Amino acid sequence: TRPIPELLAEEGPSFSFEFMPPRSERAEAVLWNSVRRLEQLHPTFVSVTYGAGGSTRDRTVRITGRIEQETTLRTMAHLTCVGSSVSELRRVVGEYAAVGIRNVLALRGDPPGGPSSVWEAHPEGLDHADQLVALVRSLGDFTVGVAAFPDKHPESTSLEQDADSLVRKAEAGAAFAITQMITDVDAYLRLRDLLDRRGCTMPVIPGLLPVTAPGQLQRLTELNGQPLAQDVVRRIADAGDDPVAVRREGIAICTEHSQRLLREGAPGLHFMTMNKSTATLEVFANLRQVSLV
Ligand code: FAD
Repeated sequence: TRPIPELLAEEGPSFSFEFMPPRSERAEAVLWNSVRRLEQLHPTFVSVTYGAGGSTRDRTVRITGRIEQETTLRTMAHLTCVGSSVSELRRVVGEYAAVGIRNVLALRGDPPGGPSSVWEAHPEGLDHADQLVALVRSLGDFTVGVAAFPDKHPESTSLEQDADSLVRKAEAGAAFAITQMITDVDAYLRLRDLLDRRGCTMPVIPGLLPVTAPGQLQRLTELNGQPLAQDVVRRIADAGDDPVAVRREGIAICTEHSQRLLREGAPGLHFMTMNKSTATLEVFANLRQVSLV
């Protein structure tokens, strides 16, 4: 199987889907239904996030491994430095390798107290994602992706600092980056320009979330501290508490952002699915209508 960066370079815009480790048997059934439906679109890859606790982490390994082994999909497993020594991180990477996973999204992770608390590395662990990139690369033939923050990471003093961090991650061996959820396409373009100016050619794939429920955006921003574009907040608010109207507007916004991003030359689109498939399939159908995918 060919590495993700090669596919990004040669096959036109990539598209990929992100899942989360399910918390129950019922949630797992919903996830598998989505995986099977989205598999039919032949995405470039799918990824599974990495949580804070032990059992969630075991589920990431198990679910990603099963998708890798039981479907036609290329998988990428997320990995964070939170609460782990270097030897524990090595062990998880070994578990990924053992189930056939060759792509890893290397992240630092948020401080356990949330994005506004202070980051403290594990005493025998790693301080930043660039170190995890280097570690994973040193452990075998892995393709490593990293996170990017067009709206500025909450701990960074400027977008320039974020661009410098991305360059450092590319120099450590990262092959591509995926952004936080895009609500402002101009912010994505600004970050890309800053990378250009630094001579960094690492592809940066925008992350997208079709909003499907009232309050969803606010909950997400409380979790990760990300500022939201005012026009998006207003459009979702104008739809009120009517779930059907919110969903319709969320899908319209995601379609518009996807179209503009692809026309501006984004290397692909990465959809955060929340383990569902219908909204993503609708956005995808809209893009197909105008021959963008
Ligand atoms: P870093 O690159 O270490 O950056 C963190 C801060 O430190 C930034 O301000 C940066 O500018 C600065 N910095 C970076 N390197 C250095 C350095 N060498 N020296 C000094 N300062 C530096 N979290 C999860 O827990 N699980 C997931 O599965 C997950 N998936 C994600 C997927 C995507 C696409 C994105 C965008 C984020 C994801 N996150 C996930 C959240 C992420 O872990 C947090 O946003 C975290 O706070 C930052 O991670 P990072 O890898 O960018 O860290």
